[in-house]
Amino acid sequence: MAYTMEKVLRVRHWNDGLFSFCITRPPSFRFLSGQFVMLGLMVDGKPLLRAYSIASQHYAEELEFLSIIVPDGPLTSRLQHIQPGDEILLGAKPVGSLVIDAVVPGKHLHLFGTGTGLAPWISLVHDPEVYERFDRVTVQHTVRHVEDRAYFTLLDTHLANDPLVGEMAAEQLVYDWVATRVAKSSHGDPRRITERIRDGSYPLNPETDRVMLCGSMPMITECSKLLDEMGFVEGTLSHPATYVLERAFAG
Ligand SMILES: Cc1cc2nc3c(=O)[nH]c(=O)nc-3n(C[C@H](O)[C@H](O)[C@H](O)COP(=O)(O)OP(=O)(O)OC[C@H]3O[C@@H](n4cnc5c(N)ncnc54)[C@H](O)[C@@H]3O)c2cc1C
Repeated sequence: MAYTMEKVLRVRHWNDGLFSFCITRPPSFRFLSGQFVMLGLMVDGKPLLRAYSIASQHYAEELEFLSIIVPDGPLTSRLQHIQPGDEILLGAKPVGSLVIDAVVPGKHLHLFGTGTGLAPWISLVHDPEVYERFDRVTVQHTVRHVEDRAYFTLLDTHLANDPLVGEMAAEQLVYDWVATRVAKSSHGDPRRITERIRDGSYPLNPETDRVMLCGSMPMITECSKLLDEMGFVEGTLSHPATYVLERAFAG
């Protein structure tokens, strides 16, 4: 697989199991907000690569990623120790269906993510086109503990000061989160999004709502089943429809 060698610029550890990092962006690297790319390290002289959602803006000078630490994970047991100046392998071809061109026009875009499944939404909420195409945008992030909410200051307040999308985000973006292990949420209902969709307390309408799903297999499986039952249709970049998904990890 084609890849380039990039330099780590910054690393931020959010807690013991979660960190984000920025790397140099090759001039020829183009991507759509919400896409993912292969990323990794040289291990014993061989490339060890994994899929990673790109968290940065498609117009950013650097590339940013949010990573889990799986203690015995082949890549992340090593990647967790990266420091500025270290080298990272970056795949040459970003791909993925969590892009606005993969959903047909609608009024309200819902971005449902669990854990590191927040990363593509960080890219999308910085994209002015998202606010031009949709009247409302909701990021719904499900984590285990309150401390697992990466980028919470950005979503709570800082995005509103962004020179490019600040005004639109302040008007149109809602950031909701649920911490399931401690039964806390930003909106008073500590249940998982799937339970709220099922009993109608989080209403969704295939005529006007568009949904993107990223994260754990159980959330994706359950959410897509509920959406199918409601008349939503899964789309791709070549066949846009009313919802899209990315199965990011098994657990
Ligand atoms: C399309 C796509 C996008 C992805 N985007 C990201 C991303 O932005 N950030 C990220 O950290 N990972 C992401 N992943 C998962 C990533 O590819 C690796 O699995 C992860 O980096 C762990 O690699 P590893 O070699 O250490 O362990 P692996 O051998 O890959 O995984 C070991 C175990 O950890 C679980 N696991 C892996 N990743 C996660 C995770 N993110 N959250 C919870 N459990 C996990 C797996 O289910 C598996 O059981 C994505 C995967 C896909 C398919």
